[in-house]
This record gives sequence, C-alpha cells and structure tokens, in this order.
Amino acid sequence: MSAIDSLPPLREVIATHQLSARKSLGQNFLLDLNLTAKIARQAGDLADCDVLEIGPGPGGLTRGLLTQGARKVLAVEKDSRCIPALREIAAAYPGRLKIVEGDALLIDPMAHLTSPVRVAANLPYNVGTELLVRWLTPPIWPPFWQSLTLMFQREVAERIVAQPGSKTYGRLAILAQWRADTRIAMSLPPGAFTPPPKVSSAVVHLTALPEPRFPANPRTLERIVAAAFNQRRKMLRAALKGLAPDIEDRLQSVGLRPTDRAEQVPLEGFCALARSFDS
Ligand code: SAM
Repeated sequence: MSAIDSLPPLREVIATHQLSARKSLGQNFLLDLNLTAKIARQAGDLADCDVLEIGPGPGGLTRGLLTQGARKVLAVEKDSRCIPALREIAAAYPGRLKIVEGDALLIDPMAHLTSPVRVAANLPYNVGTELLVRWLTPPIWPPFWQSLTLMFQREVAERIVAQPGSKTYGRLAILAQWRADTRIAMSLPPGAFTPPPKVSSAVVHLTALPEPRFPANPRTLERIVAAAFNQRRKMLRAALKGLAPDIEDRLQSVGLRPTDRAEQVPLEGFCALARSFDS
C-alpha cells in the first residue's frame, strides 16, 4: 500500500479535525486528490526540488506534491486547526514534509529550504498577489525560486499573462513578464472548491528567467509603469509629463509614439524608456 493510500479521504480529514472553512482565511479547499495531483504536475519535475507550499489547509495539494515526488515540502499554514491533519501526512511521508505554523507574509522560508526550490500554492487571493509581487521583486536576481505555480482568480491570472493591446495588460503583466515566463496552466470552475468561491480560478505557472528579459533599473521601470498605467486612458505624453519636461522627445528617441496609451506599449518599450532615464 502506498503512503497516500494509508491516509483518509479529505472529506473525512475535514470532519475529523472540524475544519469548517473560514472566510477570513480565504478557505476554499480542494478535496479531489486527482485534481490536486494534476495541479502538482503543473509545478514541473519535483524529484530533485524542495517545494514551498503556502496555505496547505487540510493538505490536498500537499499530498499531490509528495506523490509527484517532491524531495521535501515546506508547508506554511496560518490556521492552527489544520496542523494535526498535516502531521498525519508528515507521518505517512517520513522526513519529507516540514510544517510551519504561521503567517506566510512574516516567515522567511529559506531558513528551511535547500535549492533548487519550486513554489506551489492554492492561497487566498489577496495574500497570493502580495506574495507574488514580493517573489518577483527580491533585492537580488535570480530569486530563491525556480518556478511558481499559483492559484488565482481567473481575472488576476489573466492580468499576469496579458499581452499589450488587451484591457488586462498593466503593471502586474509587466512585473511578471519582465522576470519570468508566464502561462495559464489550468482553469478551474468554482465547483472544484469546497465551499465554491464566487468566481472561476486559474493556475498560473511562472518560470524565473536567469536575468530580466530586457535591461532596466527596477525602480525606474516601476516608476514609469506606475505613472503610465495610473492614467491608462491618457496618451503617454500626458500620463508621463510629470517624470520629465522633455518626455515627448524622450519617448520618440526610444521609438515610442507619444500619442500611444500605456496598454499599447510592449515590455521592451518600457524598459528602453527606463534606460533613457538612467543613461
Ligand atoms: N491548499 C489548500 C487546498 O488547496 O485545499 C487550502 C487552500 S485555501 C484557498 C487557503 C489556505 O491558506 C487556507 O488553509 C488558509 O488557512 C491558508 N492561509 C490564509 N492566509 C494565510 C497566510 N497569511 N499564511 C499562511 N497560510 C494562510
């Protein structure tokens, strides 16, 4: 009998440990182990990797990551009610699951991990976006992670992978695509979760690039992108006027049309403009 067969079904785990879903913790659980195994497979080859899982809850995705062969899983969970359920999984996979009780926003995972590291999570959406931005903006690049496989609201997932010319293209797309390859790996209807959320979800897979896609100073790029998209309906020459009095010439010098709007400018264009400020 394999380790996973010795563990009870997740509905039983939830009943035994009285894990009624708490809205305040964004708890929408995945109870279908075929589905969690499928999500775990999207995280890539786990055999020689440590995996950081944020918000394991009752452990459906945790089991998937372990059955997919993760060398070790570090599971960071804020809800103390979930810890006994996770301990049962740790007992079935000796030495391969480390549980940390606490807030993922406050914990330094690298204290417990060995490279290479992949990250996988089905997280509350607000925490997910905050962590994604942190993981994409570390003090040094490349980051501690090789890939991120994260569940988001479908709308947020679309913002991460958006291309120029679309309504969803903005700061998140630029931040993510400047430093990573991004793709939507899976779509999930509300009914895949217990309880079902109001909207559809999607798993986004990001692979860290060895260095940013185009050279640019991160702070300058962020300043330009923020100004451009804060007034996304305005032409670039108006939206960016506050950054430099000669903005129109500057835009033209890097091949951008001053009458275009931010959502028409490819990542490469924003990076070229950022370099013109730093040269
Ligand atoms: N991964 C489980 C699954 O797929 O069934 C649970 C997913 S549920 C959407 C989100 C999980 O994140 C919950 O278990 C919740 O308690 C946990 N959580 C919420 N905020 C957290 C935080 N700041 N740090 C760590 N875990 C958090």
